[in-house]
Amino acid sequence: MSSSFPSAPVDALPVVVIAGRPNVGKSTIFNRLVGRRQALVADTPGVTRDRKEGQATVRGRNIRIIDTAGLEEAAPDTLYGRMRASSESAVAHADLVLFCIDARSGITPADQHFANWLRRQGRPVLLIANKAEGRQGAAAAMEAFSLGLGAPLAISAEHGEGVADLMAEIVDRLPPTDAPPVQKNTRRLRREQAEAAEGEEEDVRPPGPLRLAIVGRPNAGKSTLLNRLLGEERMITGPEPGLTRDSIAVMLSDDEGPIQLVDTAGLRRKARIDETLEKMSVSASIEALKMAEVVILVLDATLGVHEQDLQIARLIEREGRCCVLALNKWDAVEDRADTRQAIRDRIEMSLAQMRGIPVVAFSALTGAGINKLLPTVRRAYEVWNRRVATGALNRWFEMMIERHPPPLVDGRRLKLRYITQAKSRPPTFIVFGTRTDQLPEDYQRYLVNGLRETFDLPGTPIRLLLRASS
Ligand code: GDP
Ligand code: GDP
Repeated sequence: MSSSFPSAPVDALPVVVIAGRPNVGKSTIFNRLVGRRQALVADTPGVTRDRKEGQATVRGRNIRIIDTAGLEEAAPDTLYGRMRASSESAVAHADLVLFCIDARSGITPADQHFANWLRRQGRPVLLIANKAEGRQGAAAAMEAFSLGLGAPLAISAEHGEGVADLMAEIVDRLPPTDAPPVQKNTRRLRREQAEAAEGEEEDVRPPGPLRLAIVGRPNAGKSTLLNRLLGEERMITGPEPGLTRDSIAVMLSDDEGPIQLVDTAGLRRKARIDETLEKMSVSASIEALKMAEVVILVLDATLGVHEQDLQIARLIEREGRCCVLALNKWDAVEDRADTRQAIRDRIEMSLAQMRGIPVVAFSALTGAGINKLLPTVRRAYEVWNRRVATGALNRWFEMMIERHPPPLVDGRRLKLRYITQAKSRPPTFIVFGTRTDQLPEDYQRYLVNGLRETFDLPGTPIRLLLRASS
């Protein structure tokens, strides 16, 4: 046979685009897929480098493969700008995008930016964690879950590991053979769908690992705890040379799946001079909180609750994160029952939203009690994600109003009509009624506490929004 190239016009073939930052192995993957047929590399005028394009027969399907490697030089000045500009037109025409990351260097900010952009393009994406040779590599690939592009496929293009799986996954994701080529209007539709989905993203539990932060005052035992949690399975990846040092990600896993520890760089950051120590632990906590879903607030239980602990707890509440209170150095505490109660009282008295907060006491140093920590984190996360059924919510609401009608304001009664849960993460409710802007704070607290107790939402910030309805 002279050639196995398809007789169909090239334009009709499905298009697979390989994208990702430089050096992750795009060309190596391209060569694996296209093999010796690279002869068909095409020139694309208008860019300084040739766009590498080839054809491949993958499990009997003929496809066009475009490698965006090498286009970066032509584009704007930042790494991310270059990645994006080089890929923009290719991605727009893709039936499938193979988004590649380097499993050995971990997720970099450029990967993250690009993944966010890619999600909005509404094209099918297959996430590839390349350079994942050996057992270590497969574990490292797990981190790529955090990109929100589904399960990463771990491969080693250079060593040929996982390439057969890659081919199978590509074919699975292609449009059926007889599907018409993508039309402009379906493209717009997909983009609109992607945009609509983006509007809801706050509420949707993202795929991938739970994002966990460990915060607390200096010397509370955060580093000791981190090392205890990592144990033998210690795995620290990154940072990428030349990129920000904060791109360090640490992964661990429990029975329920992967957990990503965020901002461990902040955790390791030690203050240079004593006077800034206190300030730094708060500002480092803010960074960690923004990235986290669940926050472990570590206290040195031998010292009780310090004003600064409350300050961090307030930040957690303000950011709407769910919190687990960790009483560390439990080995050194003598009067355990009293200590636990005193700490809980102090926290709950200072912060209404921390009512019912899950408390775990342990010794990071010896490991005693530590096994309860991650299950507690998982339970707190469930609460934070919880949705209350509308029917039950409104029956409860009527009962609450009947028991304590809203007060008179300027001699007129406020009318509260109904309540709905707008979103979760954290649980957020909207109350509709007339003149709701005048609803006193203590009445709002009555409703929030009621929600917390009735619907079992301990230790999570609850948001109550008030809306006027005619
Ligand atoms: P591109 O810039 O994304 O096209 O990356 P290349 O394909 O040029 O690969 C960049 C570097 O990574 C080269 O030195 C490759 O040999 C190396 N590389 C590619 N795939 C793998 C792999 O699976 N494992 C390892 N260890 N190195 C790889
Ligand atoms: P970080 O500043 O919060 O990261 O705190 P470190 O992890 O560096 O711990 C501060 C000090 O507390 C170190 O001397 C630790 O050995 C000690 N420490 C940490 N955890 C425990 C514990 O569970 N019990 C006791 N007795 N000491 C601990």
